[in-house]
Amino acid sequence: MQYYSLSRQSPPVDFRTATIAGQAPDGGLYFPEAIPRFSADFLQSLPAHSRADIAYTVMQPYVGATIPEADLRRICAETVDFDFPLVPVAERIGALELFHGPTLAFKDVGARFMSRCLGYFSRGETKPVTVLVATSGDTGGAVAHGFLGVPGVEVVILYPAGRVSPLQELQLTTLGQNITALEVQGNFDDCQHLVKQAFRDEELTRRRPLTSANSINVARWLPQQLYYLFAMQQWPPAAPPVVAVPSGNFGNLCAGLLAHASGLPVGHFIAACNANDAGAEYLRTAIFTPRPAVATISNAMDVGHPSNFIRILELFKHEHAALSQLLSGYTVSDADTRATIRRVEAEHHYLLDPHGAVAFFALEKYLAEHPAAAGFLLATAHPVKFPEVVEPLIGRKIDLPDSLHYLLAKPKHSVLLPPSYAALRGWLLR
Ligand SMILES: *Cc1c(COP(=O)(O)O)cnc(C)c1O
Repeated sequence: MQYYSLSRQSPPVDFRTATIAGQAPDGGLYFPEAIPRFSADFLQSLPAHSRADIAYTVMQPYVGATIPEADLRRICAETVDFDFPLVPVAERIGALELFHGPTLAFKDVGARFMSRCLGYFSRGETKPVTVLVATSGDTGGAVAHGFLGVPGVEVVILYPAGRVSPLQELQLTTLGQNITALEVQGNFDDCQHLVKQAFRDEELTRRRPLTSANSINVARWLPQQLYYLFAMQQWPPAAPPVVAVPSGNFGNLCAGLLAHASGLPVGHFIAACNANDAGAEYLRTAIFTPRPAVATISNAMDVGHPSNFIRILELFKHEHAALSQLLSGYTVSDADTRATIRRVEAEHHYLLDPHGAVAFFALEKYLAEHPAAAGFLLATAHPVKFPEVVEPLIGRKIDLPDSLHYLLAKPKHSVLLPPSYAALRGWLLR
């Protein structure tokens, strides 16, 4: 498989090059030159396959010859070695729980796959490669856990001091080994700015090779298709489902649309957005107007200019009519998100996190207008990650899953850094 740049100024590359580079030299996102088709036999026998098998079958055409079969099978098996249950929540509504991985958010799958691919590609390199990433919360934890202990790879995460939740901070700062957390005395934009400056610094990258773990990387984007196949393994052989996706950067949703283009029988998709709804607005009006991000309670979706939207347009050859047949956009306010968390807990005894709640609300609206349809939402994070939002709504504390209790006993290790490039550069070349 070759990948071309959506800016069309750089030459096509294979999976290895696209994964190591992240972004094309012309600044464009990479896009696969052909969309593989799932065989009818594979789709009919989905429930009989193991998750590792499905992962290998879906990812192999995208990886091509850049990773041999035995290594890719191991990488796939390790990527999906936790549960993805589709649980019934209300009449005609299920929740696909994507929060049973190590950091309790769906970004684990993409981060685990990408980290293992980069680990494979950096074998035999004499210099270790440094993954440099800025995080506002979830990405850093998923990337750190994905790369923990991977030989030849060092991970440096910049996060804004005092602006990530206590649980997120523990996930970033307690791992040790090849993971270092730099606690920047500034905000997320400062962190992102410092990372961008480092990537542009030719002398630095010569002395210390850098790679990004950005969400636009094909090795993070493509494996997100797997969620939709795992859901269909569990979906009764009835009418194709409506799938509601809480969307920020639109990577997850775009992966679902790609699986559909390969033949996965999904009936309809919903882009569920918070107040940052440039994508949803495009679907309603055919006009795409990115705006500066505004803060909401579903903060992992606070993206004003969704970078993967261009991939969705490419998949549909920029034809708004065809796209809006398959995909509807909804905008959900914080007030409706809060009311949904409270109501679903009271009526259905199911606790949603703010991102899942946005999708639940949008799905309910769609189903009210389509009485014969049924579907599920992607529950992208565990509610315990957002206690300051969820606990006041339900009037009780949320229990930390057993798998995370160990975190509370671990000491925090971070390096305090002023928000200056000289300080970051000095630390990287120390
Ligand atoms: C990142 C994230 C999203 C948004 O996913 P995109 O692929 O950026 O659209 C939704 N929910 C949670 C919990 C996230 O961490």
